[in-house]
Amino acid sequence: MKPTLEKITLIGAGLNGPLLAILLRQRGFAVEIYERRPDMRRVRMSAGRSINLALSTRGIHALQQAGLWERMRSIIIPMKGRMMHSIAGELTFQPYGKNETEIINSISRAELNIALVNAAEEQGATIHFNQRCTGYDLKTGVIRVRNESTGEETTRETAVVIGCDGSASAIRAEMLKLSRFNFSQQYLDYGYKELTIPAGSHGEHLLETHALHIWPRGSHMLIALPNIDGTFACILFLPFEGTDSFASLSTPAEVVQFFQSRFPDAVPLMPQLADNYFSNPTGSMVTIKCSPWHVEARALLLGDAVHAIVPFFGQGLNCGFEDCTFLLELLDRHDADWPRVFGEFENERKVNTDAIADMAIENFTEMRDRVADSRFLFRKKVELALEAKYPEVFVPKYAMVTFHRIPYSVALARGAVQDRMLGELCESINRVEDLDWAKADQLIRRDLSPLETRQ
Ligand SMILES: Cc1cc2nc3c(=O)[nH]c(=O)nc-3n(C[C@H](O)[C@H](O)[C@H](O)COP(=O)(O)OP(=O)(O)OC[C@H]3O[C@@H](n4cnc5c(N)ncnc54)[C@H](O)[C@@H]3O)c2cc1C
Repeated sequence: MKPTLEKITLIGAGLNGPLLAILLRQRGFAVEIYERRPDMRRVRMSAGRSINLALSTRGIHALQQAGLWERMRSIIIPMKGRMMHSIAGELTFQPYGKNETEIINSISRAELNIALVNAAEEQGATIHFNQRCTGYDLKTGVIRVRNESTGEETTRETAVVIGCDGSASAIRAEMLKLSRFNFSQQYLDYGYKELTIPAGSHGEHLLETHALHIWPRGSHMLIALPNIDGTFACILFLPFEGTDSFASLSTPAEVVQFFQSRFPDAVPLMPQLADNYFSNPTGSMVTIKCSPWHVEARALLLGDAVHAIVPFFGQGLNCGFEDCTFLLELLDRHDADWPRVFGEFENERKVNTDAIADMAIENFTEMRDRVADSRFLFRKKVELALEAKYPEVFVPKYAMVTFHRIPYSVALARGAVQDRMLGELCESINRVEDLDWAKADQLIRRDLSPLETRQ
């Protein structure tokens, strides 16, 4: 692509904004970012907002494209599988994939954000912190910005604006004023809260390091992801209302008692449990779908701003990073022909972001409930046996989403076919040895073609 001095304005220096800035700078675009928060390298982030993320193949690919993956290696911890904690304290390990390469990586949101912001500035992007976008004129391309420290309001002219401003996007709010703008938001009745398991006295992890720990309890769940400093970032998922809910746990004694009865082996590891619980905010989880994603060639939405999803497939960030690389692929292919790029971006991407949004909601039930169900675990074993015999054809849905870069919509469709197949094959057996391989062979030949995959 020929280098250009065309200036791109990004709103939001969360995770997608700086990555996109880096990729655009590498093509010679001038990039400015407006971020409403202060610079997190200088101001401590408020407690309970640092939630760890699971980074997998799609996100890693994007970081490789940006030349950043090697730099990230020092701040990630590979997680090889789920470690389930029963009420009795028994541990069961379930690998994520078929081998040691099929793993996911725990990374602190704050560390990742700082690394991306540093790299974006090194590449020559300008980031204006403390500058909240308060409006955008879709006809003239003028944005309104408020300095969050002084309250001063200013306007800026822009040629191309990309809203990377997360699930409460200000750019999307302007698009909502357009006639025939489609928008849906669906909140879960569940909220989440960050808690911490501190490091041991020698800085060591007090639980198995290379696992994502889960305490699945049906209507509620606790998970823990390892940090490089020996701590675990835990997330408690609970209904907002009702018995055993955020509303029902209103005193330190109630919180501790609840944990003792549901997550007893976690309690001795969490000396600050009640303090953490009451000082950290309770977050909500939302699925957002909308269209169109762009206004002519002037404004585009990307990442959570256009497709926020619930966190149960660990894909929100991975999917947003894939948006960034796909957008750049289109820019390269069409030589920065913005109308064409924005049109194709939405056409090809929306079907896939809708698919991962639906799979993420489905996975909520799987994580909080089914991972502890013996029939579900048996089906997982059969799934792995089928994958071992037909590695090019039968790839579990979790693996298609997490370890491949095939379109999410393909993973959803093939996953549904495989699910039906598993139902039929597991119906009357309890041991993998009893699997009817002739029938499996027949079903696979009939219903599945080899997976066209991109690593
Ligand atoms: C509990 C939880 C766990 C998660 N776990 C995972 C996981 O394991 N793996 C995964 O891939 N994803 C995960 N996600 C999803 C992931 O966090 C999001 O998909 C990702 O942060 C989206 O990045 P973004 O840049 O689009 O938005 P954000 O990260 O929300 O960034 C938006 C930025 O825009 C700024 N901003 C907002 N409004 C304005 C404005 N008006 N003007 C200027 N700036 C503005 C914000 O301050 C922010 O910095 C999780 C999410 C949650 C809630």
